[in-house]
Amino acid sequence: MSVRVGDLLKTGSQSFSFEFFPPKTDAGEEALWSALGELEPLAPTFVSVTYGAGGTTRDRTVAITGRIARQTSMVPVGHLTCVGATVDELRAVVTEYGDAGVHNVLALRGDPPGGPGGEWVAHEGGLNYASELVSLVRDGGDFCVGVAAFPDPHPASGSHEVDVQVLKAKQEAGAEFAISQFFFKSESYFDLLARARSIGVEIPIIPGIMPVTNLAQITRFAALSGADFPAEIAAEFAAVDEADVRALGIEKASQLCRELLDGGAPGLHFYTLNRSTATREIYAHLGLGASA
Ligand SMILES: Cc1cc2nc3c(=O)[nH]c(=O)nc-3n(C[C@H](O)[C@H](O)[C@H](O)COP(=O)(O)OP(=O)(O)OC[C@H]3O[C@@H](n4cnc5c(N)ncnc54)[C@H](O)[C@@H]3O)c2cc1C
Repeated sequence: MSVRVGDLLKTGSQSFSFEFFPPKTDAGEEALWSALGELEPLAPTFVSVTYGAGGTTRDRTVAITGRIARQTSMVPVGHLTCVGATVDELRAVVTEYGDAGVHNVLALRGDPPGGPGGEWVAHEGGLNYASELVSLVRDGGDFCVGVAAFPDPHPASGSHEVDVQVLKAKQEAGAEFAISQFFFKSESYFDLLARARSIGVEIPIIPGIMPVTNLAQITRFAALSGADFPAEIAAEFAAVDEADVRALGIEKASQLCRELLDGGAPGLHFYTLNRSTATREIYAHLGLGASA
């Protein structure tokens, strides 16, 4: 019987999950499986694998999630985007996921080539919005579908209010859970939650955590995703020696996680960048499981 992330979240236990991306090289592939092996003992609720820009990782994302389903104890969530694909092609990927034993899908629109703020042009015969993809996946079989949520305004909408209306449309299309973009202050998450609940969004919203381990990298990621890297936090990192950035990043991410869990967040979703150490260190700080 297939495990549905939506059902796991309904049990009331906190959910801990890890996100990976499909590597491009053999060395990257080795690093991915080693990180997965090191994180498996933490018994995550699920692990997710991204779907690369322009649908370029289609085969690898399906293959990796399928292998996780077959060869590990972990529940895989396969990401899927609308970018560069017709409706028929999207339906085919959904069928491939089902055949590979992957029954949980994160349905996303994906970004135009210029990044999330760039002009979106739907593929001919394709879809425009993630909400349409949610329906397509639900129609494709017995899938549990998750979606993205945004604590800072999505660059193309520029508005908190529009973002929660879009989240509601994804819930109405059949989404059972959401994972948030990364953010750096717990109030960003709790404000999103309050806005969402006030207009009838009831699905669990799992906060996404990106620990700062490298200042240049986080600045680039924040610019690319539209997440706000607050000036006062950037200044705290700029004030320490480069060698101490990582330790400060783990400390601050652990503090953020503690505030989120204490405030009632349903769990935590770690953007691992295919490495296990930072996540294991945060787990140890939080007293959550096997130490780093
Ligand atoms: C947890 C998480 C995982 C991600 N994984 C991936 C991945 O694997 N691969 C990848 O390429 N990207 C990924 N992304 C990035 C994501 O694809 C981008 O942030 C993208 O810009 C928005 O995707 P969405 O699913 O929220 O789109 P949508 O919900 O479709 O929203 C996209 C834009 O359209 C607007 N919009 C939506 N519906 C309507 C409507 N009915 N009318 C008018 N405007 C509307 C929204 O306001 C928003 O500005 C991920 C993001 C998150 C938070």
